[in-house]
Amino acid sequence: MKKISIRAQLTFWYITLLMVFLYIGVVASYNAMFDIFTNQHKEGMQRGGQFLAEKIEKADNLEAFLKGEEEHKVPDELYFMYFDEQNHLLSGKNEEWMITLPQKINEFRVITHDDKYWAMYDKSLEKAGKQIGWIRTLINVTPSFDILLEMKRRGFISIIPSLLLCALGGFLITRWALKPIKKVAETAKEIGEGNLNKRIALPQTKDEIGQLLTEFNHMADQLQHVIDREKQFSADASHELRTPISVIIANAEYALDQKDPKIYEDSLKLIVEKGKHLTSMLSQLMMLAKESDQVAAMELETLNLSDIVKDIAEERRPKAEEKKITIHTKCEDSVMVQADLMLISRLITNLVDNAITYGKEDGEIHIETYFDTTQHKAILTVKDNGIGISADDLPLIFNRFYRADKSRTKSGSGLGLSFVDFIVKLHKGTISVDSEIGKGTEFVIHL
Ligand code: ADP
Repeated sequence: MKKISIRAQLTFWYITLLMVFLYIGVVASYNAMFDIFTNQHKEGMQRGGQFLAEKIEKADNLEAFLKGEEEHKVPDELYFMYFDEQNHLLSGKNEEWMITLPQKINEFRVITHDDKYWAMYDKSLEKAGKQIGWIRTLINVTPSFDILLEMKRRGFISIIPSLLLCALGGFLITRWALKPIKKVAETAKEIGEGNLNKRIALPQTKDEIGQLLTEFNHMADQLQHVIDREKQFSADASHELRTPISVIIANAEYALDQKDPKIYEDSLKLIVEKGKHLTSMLSQLMMLAKESDQVAAMELETLNLSDIVKDIAEERRPKAEEKKITIHTKCEDSVMVQADLMLISRLITNLVDNAITYGKEDGEIHIETYFDTTQHKAILTVKDNGIGISADDLPLIFNRFYRADKSRTKSGSGLGLSFVDFIVKLHKGTISVDSEIGKGTEFVIHL
């Protein structure tokens, strides 16, 4: 398909429309003027016809009147014919062709003859209630119709320069109006070529173009943010994966140099443990890497949060019992939320698993769900009486790979809470945490 610029297309359509409007304007003005002129002539002709008819009907010195000898003689420019009942011409001032025109009593007409316009009117004559004949009057109206035609001609001619001027004006205006779009295309090209910092200088206006540019810059910011995040993610991930891999390699090398089966066994146990840790970290990473897929695949449905919590509590009970931890649930009957079942289940599981992992032996976990009618929000709280988190660590625990337990005795990945935070944000909810070292931790989620 041929590439035609928007500017050319806009100008073309605008000029075409303008041409149609101007044409209609000229034709409509011509028709209106034609009607006005015709009506004027019609009235004049009817009055003239009436005057003549009355003169003839009264017949007071008709001959003198017709010859133009009377005081109220027939106007010079008026042609008239006086016919009897048998259509014989009795008298009048006329030309040959006027006599032969068809008779149309009481009907005003405009006719053309030899390139001239004629107004014409036929009127019947009566005397003492008896038909005595009829008269025909004609007047040359060419001058007024010539003016009209000249107006029409000039109207049509003036359309061409008007269109040319408007085309030029339209072309310049569209160039000015579309300039920012060109800027968007150029900047998008530069960003596409890798210059991610490139932005468009914003105009002061808040019109559609201003909005477009603001949105474009916002999109570029988001894009840069996503790319930066991905870079950071890759850097963090490779850094975190390197540690267990180094431990595995070091232990394997050490074991190879040893002859003692006990050392072999210990090294292999450590390798298996680190391998498992790596696997769980990789699966968490895979999930986080698919963030955008998760957003697209998210299926919101009306769910009863209390039912989900009770199911998960039952499912995690055996794991808790390994540490003799008791899970208590206090759930209102129906706490309905609009959420994705898979994601919400993962969120609750992560929080409960953390409460078990960082809970103390013989400890307790309290999970509560209820609907806060004042805030119109579903609330989920997960509380343990475990090791707690220090005030320094608290603001950082939702960061990827962050683990408050610096000794890394627990085999966590530091990704669980960042995933929880991500799921909460995805559901447009909020999460807060309250904790004290040695006393326990409470997570509160508003959905
Ligand atoms: P991890 O895989 O290390 O558990 P998380 O993102 O789930 O990763 O948690 C980040 C850190 O926050 C943990 O390493 C831990 O130090 C701390 N943390 C999370 N939940 C609790 C909790 N219930 N009690 C104490 N500390 C917690």
